[in-house]
Amino acid sequence: MKKIYLDNASTTSVRPEVVQEMTKVLLEDFGNPSSTHSFGRSAKVLIESARKSIAKQINAAASEIIFTSCGTEANNWILRSCVRDLKIERIITSRIEHHAVLHTVEILGQEYGVQVDFVNVKPNGEIDFTDLVELLSQGKKTLVSLMHINNEIGTVLNLEKAIRITHDYNALFHTDTVQSIGKTEIDLEKAPVDFLVASAHKFHGPKGVGFAYVKKNTILQPMFYGGEQEKGLRAGTEAVHQIVGMAKALELAYENLDSERSYISELKKYAVKRFEIDFPDFKINGEETFYNILNVNLPLPEEKTSMLLFHLDMKGIAVSRGSACQSGSIRPSHVLAEILNKDEVKKPNLRISFSHYNTKEDVDLFIEALKSI
Ligand code: PLP
Repeated sequence: MKKIYLDNASTTSVRPEVVQEMTKVLLEDFGNPSSTHSFGRSAKVLIESARKSIAKQINAAASEIIFTSCGTEANNWILRSCVRDLKIERIITSRIEHHAVLHTVEILGQEYGVQVDFVNVKPNGEIDFTDLVELLSQGKKTLVSLMHINNEIGTVLNLEKAIRITHDYNALFHTDTVQSIGKTEIDLEKAPVDFLVASAHKFHGPKGVGFAYVKKNTILQPMFYGGEQEKGLRAGTEAVHQIVGMAKALELAYENLDSERSYISELKKYAVKRFEIDFPDFKINGEETFYNILNVNLPLPEEKTSMLLFHLDMKGIAVSRGSACQSGSIRPSHVLAEILNKDEVKKPNLRISFSHYNTKEDVDLFIEALKSI
């Protein structure tokens, strides 16, 4: 049976060139970057070149990139440090953020009494900027945290506009770019965020590594204490092979961006066409969504919801409902619950997310499998 992977918003396969680069580091450059001997110095050079390369891709300074173990860690660190160290009194976010932001903000509310306000989300998944302005005009030292690309429905935030509004009110701006880094251009000169986070496994790099961007002259304190790694901001011996792999993956992602983006966009269009033919009453969740994510409500009986993924999996097809962390849950996704009405949210839904490794044949086999359920 041919196995088909259409769950690239959950994670992606690692590019062979990245594996090659990482293997070399594991075999040859095993020194501890904090050691002063030649083994350590070589490892340190690799880390610093990776930092420079990543910074260059997003038009940042190398000193503004801090390596972490994943996107979740980077989100937790920034949000917590903003409240604890920068004395942020209020966080404005949305109910469609990833749980790495939502749960952290909830805990910070309990621990520090920080006020949490949720900006309205329109039924098409767009952030309501009028409401954002309204919330910001209430004063208080504020951080706005809004994701760039929604991981479940693929809606796209107008990043530059969100930053402009936030800065007009002297608030700080954090964005979760886990789904967008490596898949669209991010130029921090044009989009001057205060903080952003990324995760290598979403752009064909390894799992277990990510980074935070922290704008120059922003004084955060660490979440972990121990060594002086990452200027003392992230103690713990650096995962040199992961960091090198992440930099290589990002470099390749941007080198191939134009061709891969147009290929994947065509594939998504093809999938939509197949849905139109084979499931004419289907509905796309979200409007003007990102080119690699397609979230659909299916014209199937409600009782099929819980078994849908299982049946597709039995046919070798990997897709998801909502985020990977929620796939096993029968509860409706918090994102769909926010934008759909009560009846719509009960309908079977699927998130199909593509990569350049997918083909039209994958889409055909997926649709045929879905028809047989
Ligand atoms: N933020 C978004 C938007 C995501 O899609 C994910 C992963 O699903 C994360 C954060 C968490 O990233 P990581 O898996 O690196 O912790």
